[in-house]
Amino acid sequence: MKQIAHWINGKPFDGAGERRGDVYDPSTGAVSGQVNLASVADVDAAVAAARAAFPGWRDASLSTRTRVLFKFRELLVEHRQEIAELISSEHGKVVSDAAGEVARGLEVVEFACGIPHLLKGGYSENVSTKVDAYSILQPVGVAAGITPFNFPAMVPMWMFPVAIACGNTFILKPSEKDPSASLRLAELWAEAGLPDGVFNVVQGDKEAVDAILQHPGIDAVSFVGSTPIAKYIYETSARAGKRVQALGGAKNHMVVLPDADLDLAADAAVSAGFGSAGERCMAISVLTCVDPAGDELMEKIKERVARLRVGPGTDERSEMGPLVTREHRDKVASYLESGVREGATLAIDGRMHPVLGGPDTGDGFWLGPTVLDHVTPEMAAYRDEIFGPVLSVVRVPTYDAALELVNENPYGNGTAIFTNDGGAARRFQNEVQVGMVGVNVPIPVPMAYYSFGGWKNSLFGDSHAHGMEGVHFYTRTKAITARWLDPSHGGVNLGFPTSG
Ligand code: NAD
Repeated sequence: MKQIAHWINGKPFDGAGERRGDVYDPSTGAVSGQVNLASVADVDAAVAAARAAFPGWRDASLSTRTRVLFKFRELLVEHRQEIAELISSEHGKVVSDAAGEVARGLEVVEFACGIPHLLKGGYSENVSTKVDAYSILQPVGVAAGITPFNFPAMVPMWMFPVAIACGNTFILKPSEKDPSASLRLAELWAEAGLPDGVFNVVQGDKEAVDAILQHPGIDAVSFVGSTPIAKYIYETSARAGKRVQALGGAKNHMVVLPDADLDLAADAAVSAGFGSAGERCMAISVLTCVDPAGDELMEKIKERVARLRVGPGTDERSEMGPLVTREHRDKVASYLESGVREGATLAIDGRMHPVLGGPDTGDGFWLGPTVLDHVTPEMAAYRDEIFGPVLSVVRVPTYDAALELVNENPYGNGTAIFTNDGGAARRFQNEVQVGMVGVNVPIPVPMAYYSFGGWKNSLFGDSHAHGMEGVHFYTRTKAITARWLDPSHGGVNLGFPTSG
């Protein structure tokens, strides 16, 4: 059986922890490997390596840092397919989708390759007579990243390329459900010439996370995961005096106005609702149909869902794979029953959807695309983040009712409006209380040079991920005021320094 270790100081590290976690092949339900779960001592070892590497990496020239980043980028391109297959084998998503997540992570690496430009500070000459002022951006120190199961390569790459480019050292604590991609990324860093200890991986669960949050040797924590854990991470890290950003869960609404191109909207709802089996923080989970768009749109969605091919992620015919674990699959499926009990209509029952593949797939974590129609805001299917292939359809009478629904939802990660009315779209982007907005684009994930993050319960902290907010998060500014000796310097002055 495959054993999945940690990565500390440039090499695999078994650790002292005796606990192990099972890793599954979600399409068969079989255990495919075991991951070492870090003890507090293992986290200590990672922090010691990262702290020891920090002074050297902080002082490495920008050219040295960028050369390593460019090489890492090349290796990532070269190994993209292999990493995608690794992700698919533990997560269950189809390989082409996994290749897409590697591509989006790669874009952040490419953004980070421009770090010399991004780290330019400011300079003002003669802020006072013969006095100059300037600001510089310095790394924070040792940064930790704690990441979710659903993007085992992309989400870590929202964090570490920028952190490392800024001169920090990094400890990644990936999800224990699909831990292998992180080790492959660590190997590529080593091959790219990154000094030992600059990038470390600690596998584990709550024990490892709590050790990270309390460790005095860690200066900054980036987290992506569910809202209750994000809140816990934010509060605990902040109490321990760390800089922290914690991105949480989502309930993303796609609003369809009656004037929209309904074929485009149906394609988008099906793609964004069921891609990656709905296990995306930017998946559309609530389709908000403004009357009278609902009935026609539902017909178009049904036609499309009937043609979707569900099967193992490694089968090239599959468009949608299984869910990540049996427990998660069962929890997601429970919303079909609770939805019906609370008065929704089960318009498409994903339990009946055929699954490609032979007898091996019998015990896989399958649930096909499901649509619950006539959902109302009191129902659990609306209130909870389901995080699976369940699209809830809410019918509303007007644009204002749609906007109110979105704005009253406690989450504020992503949203989209489908319309051919530019004025309505512009009003929506202005009025909606959500961090990332699509106009006729269902999954508006920002490019690497913008920043990714939601509002309300989808983000705790001030900085979004990557882009300039990422650079800001992983650096501290220092403002310097300098006077070089000049014959005109003027003796003691106890007044508060002002310019003159
Ligand atoms: P999760 O919150 O269960 O786990 C995330 C990380 O926290 C993992 O590394 C896990 O080991 C750790 N963790 C879990 N329970 C913990 C606890 N009690 N104490 C300390 N650490 C703990 O999330 P998940 O199920 O892996 O991922 C799915 C969630 O992530 C969804 O809610 C999804 O919306 C969210 N997500 C959000 C974004 C975003 O950008 N906002 C992106 C991707 C995923």
